[in-house]
Amino acid sequence: MNFEYTEKSKELQARVDAFMKEHIFPLEYDYFEFTENNPWKVYPEIERLKKLAKDAGLWNLFLPEEYGKLSPGLTNLEYAPLAALMGRVIWSSQVFNCSAPDTGNMEVLAKFGTPAQQEKWLKPLMDGDIRSAFLMTEPQVASSDATNIETSIVKDGDEYVINGRKWWSSGVMHPQSKIYIVMGKTDPEAQRHVQQSMILVPADTEGVNVIRPLRVYGTYESPEGHAEVELNNVRVPADNLLVGEGSGFAIAQGRLGPGRIHHCMRLIGAADRALDLMCKRVAERTTFGKQVAQYSSIRQEIAKSRCDIEQARLLTLAAADKIDRFGIKEAKDLVAMIKIVVPSMTCKVVDRAIQMHGGMGVGQDTPLSGFWIYARAIRIADGPDEVHMYQLGRNTIKQHLL
Ligand SMILES: Cc1cc2nc3c(=O)[nH]c(=O)nc-3n(C[C@H](O)[C@H](O)[C@H](O)COP(=O)(O)OP(=O)(O)OC[C@H]3O[C@@H](n4cnc5c(N)ncnc54)[C@H](O)[C@@H]3O)c2cc1C
Repeated sequence: MNFEYTEKSKELQARVDAFMKEHIFPLEYDYFEFTENNPWKVYPEIERLKKLAKDAGLWNLFLPEEYGKLSPGLTNLEYAPLAALMGRVIWSSQVFNCSAPDTGNMEVLAKFGTPAQQEKWLKPLMDGDIRSAFLMTEPQVASSDATNIETSIVKDGDEYVINGRKWWSSGVMHPQSKIYIVMGKTDPEAQRHVQQSMILVPADTEGVNVIRPLRVYGTYESPEGHAEVELNNVRVPADNLLVGEGSGFAIAQGRLGPGRIHHCMRLIGAADRALDLMCKRVAERTTFGKQVAQYSSIRQEIAKSRCDIEQARLLTLAAADKIDRFGIKEAKDLVAMIKIVVPSMTCKVVDRAIQMHGGMGVGQDTPLSGFWIYARAIRIADGPDEVHMYQLGRNTIKQHLL
């Protein structure tokens, strides 16, 4: 691959960076303060910031060029460094309408939605007027093997009836969360990978009961949040099914490739910020008559962090490039590699930064504890590390036996 970014990407990187410096960094802690003290309320400045980003043309940048008119025309490789810039402030992606899980859901609707589904749900999502959630994981089964999912989706005349229990449904708590993509079984007797389907469920449908919000390391991650949700005889029109019965796995494959690039690049941005903060911190403190930056052990930790970040960045760019040029199927090993490598790398780098900040590192005066929680959770979300290693190991052995 060519490691030089295109002119278009470089120009957008400069604009996203300038936008963040002018509008987002100054509000970073104010946002944390507000959301901590006002659970499930939207930070009052968000809509103003979204309008500024939209007017500046920094909007929906994530949707790859293959989506034609819907897309601002970037490849995954061109968008990747923009996601890293956004990742420096944990809440900033929503300002550019580039935040999970909406990005994955928009991509599903753009790729698989009918014109009517797109008009009803994709348009308001792309305009930033509503938010969404993706409901796959279930409390009663090991959901890292998605064939275990038990929620039933049963045809009844011109409707489907849905019954099941979901949890870790990110975004459900957001007051603007209006549409869920639900995965469940339409045919439990079919061959394993065609039992599942995905269906659109409006959040206000009768029988959709939000049981409770879930905390991640004690925090609500408000206003998006994660929830446990009961689906009790939920009836939706048959037209709400995506593609057709049995397509759930095929859709999931398409959803997760670019989504993992986004998560990983945001995490790389968080690690970039942690490196910046640790360098500044050690240069301003003195212990035992010596600047902390002068200690060899500290310099080693900083050097290792820089190496770790650059290795992870290059691997992630290689995965983005492979998706662009050969498609998600061909890129699956590289996508598994980044999902294994990047969240752990960010945990490690952020942990070093926390240590170098002393007590301040675990408190609310830096973004470090939030970065660590985010990176740690991503080692589980979208498939735990072990599952990606299990599949990558299997593929690697196969390739060596060819
Ligand atoms: C912050 C957060 C946000 C999330 N957001 C969403 C969301 O929006 N929508 C959604 O549907 N889900 C979401 N999830 C759920 C997430 O995708 C699941 O938690 C994940 O897939 C694991 O499923 P599980 O929790 O059922 O764990 P299990 O499947 O029970 O696995 C538990 C552990 O078993 C071990 N294990 C499993 N398989 C193997 C293997 N092959 N080899 C070795 N060890 C193995 C691993 O250590 C694994 O972590 C989110 C989770 C978190 C933490």
